[in-house]
Amino acid sequence: MRRCLQLARCGRLGAAPNPMVGAVVVCDGRIIGEGYHQRCGEAHAEVNAIRSVCEPELLHRSTIYVSLEPCAHYGKTPPCAQLIIDKGIPQVVVGCRDPFAQVDGRGITMLRESGIEVREGVLEQKCLWLNRRFITFHTKQRPYITLKWAQSEDGFIDRKRTSPEEPPVRFSTPLTQALVHQLRAENEAILVGRHTLELDRPSLTVRQWYGRNPRRVVLSSRPVRCEGMTSYRTREEALKDLWQQGVQSLLVEGGRETLQGFIDAGLWDEARIETAPIRLGEGIRAPKIEGRKGEKVLIEGRSIVYIYKIS
Ligand SMILES: [Zn+2]
Repeated sequence: MRRCLQLARCGRLGAAPNPMVGAVVVCDGRIIGEGYHQRCGEAHAEVNAIRSVCEPELLHRSTIYVSLEPCAHYGKTPPCAQLIIDKGIPQVVVGCRDPFAQVDGRGITMLRESGIEVREGVLEQKCLWLNRRFITFHTKQRPYITLKWAQSEDGFIDRKRTSPEEPPVRFSTPLTQALVHQLRAENEAILVGRHTLELDRPSLTVRQWYGRNPRRVVLSSRPVRCEGMTSYRTREEALKDLWQQGVQSLLVEGGRETLQGFIDAGLWDEARIETAPIRLGEGIRAPKIEGRKGEKVLIEGRSIVYIYKIS
C-alpha cells in the first residue's frame, strides 16, 4: 500500500479533477505489476497495473492493492471493479473508500458479490490524506480550504503599513518560498482580501515550482477591478460558486481579517504557518487558531513551518 501511495502521488499534477490513485499487483510476495492514474480521461490505476503484468496467467493467484476503492460506474472508462472480476484476480486490498456518489462502497460490494476477498482500510489515514481535497469537495460540497501565512516569532504578520511604497516584512527563506509556490500549484484557486490585493498587488502565481497557476479570487464587499481576478462579496458566495465550477481546493493567503474570518466560521481544513526567527515588537497580529496544536513539517535554521488540521 505504501508503494501504491508513492505511485498515486505521481498523478499529482495530472489526475485532477479525478483522485490520485496507485495500484500494484502482487504474486507470491513479489510485485509483478504497478500503475497509477496519470491523467483525467485516461486509464485508471488498476487498468495500468494489470496491463503492466508480463505474465497475465499469474493474475489468477494474485492480489491487487489499490489506494482508493475501485470504481463501479461507467465514466470515461469502464468500471475497474468489473475488470478485476473479469481478470479473475482473487484478492483485493483497498486503502480507503471512495466517497464519490457514484462509487461510495459500490466497488467493494461488486467485488465481494462476485466472490473476491476484499480487505479494506489498509493505511487508511494516509490514503484519505492524499486525496483530502477530492474527498472534502465531494463530501462537504465546497473546496478543501488551506490557510497560509507567515509570522514573526512574537506573532505578527507585518508592520502597520498604509501605502504600497512600504514593502511588507519578508519572513520566508528561499526554501519556504518554494514551498509556498508548490502549495499554489497544488491548489486550484487562491484567495486574498481586497486590502491585501490593493496594498501588495500580489501576483499569486506559481514561479518557483512547476505546475499551473491557480485561479485568482478576491473577497471584497465592493467590486474590485483587477484583471484576471474574480471578485466575491462573501465567503459563502465564493465557496458555493467555486464548488459549482468544480474547483476542489482553495488556498487562502491573507490578510489577517480574511484569514481570521475563515477560522472563526470554521471554514478551513488545513493551515500552513511559517514562523520566522524575527521579532517585530508591534504590528498586525497574526490570526489565531484556538485549541489546536500544529505539527512541525519543516525546520530550516530557526524558521519553522507548521501544519494545523481541523480534524
Ligand atoms: Zn476505475
